[in-house]
Amino acid sequence: MLSCKELVAHSSEFIDGQLGLGKRMSVRLHLAMCQHCRRFIKQMRLSQAVLRQLPPGQSAELDALAAKLAELRRNHS
Ligand SMILES: [Zn+2]
Repeated sequence: MLSCKELVAHSSEFIDGQLGLGKRMSVRLHLAMCQHCRRFIKQMRLSQAVLRQLPPGQSAELDALAAKLAELRRNHS
């Protein structure tokens, strides 16, 4: 079972679909049991989706936002 910290560490790979099957299953299992991480992944997905729609140059602020979210999440666990 992953810890919340490990999940956060793998979150961007998970969202990008770059995790191997085993790791992806552990992440899914963790998400099924942990509401905080579900919310975190949802926020990550949202900010990445927004980021992809923005022209280059406007993404720095969102990067900062994503980093801040990750930081908040880390302090929470
Ligand atoms: Zn968690």
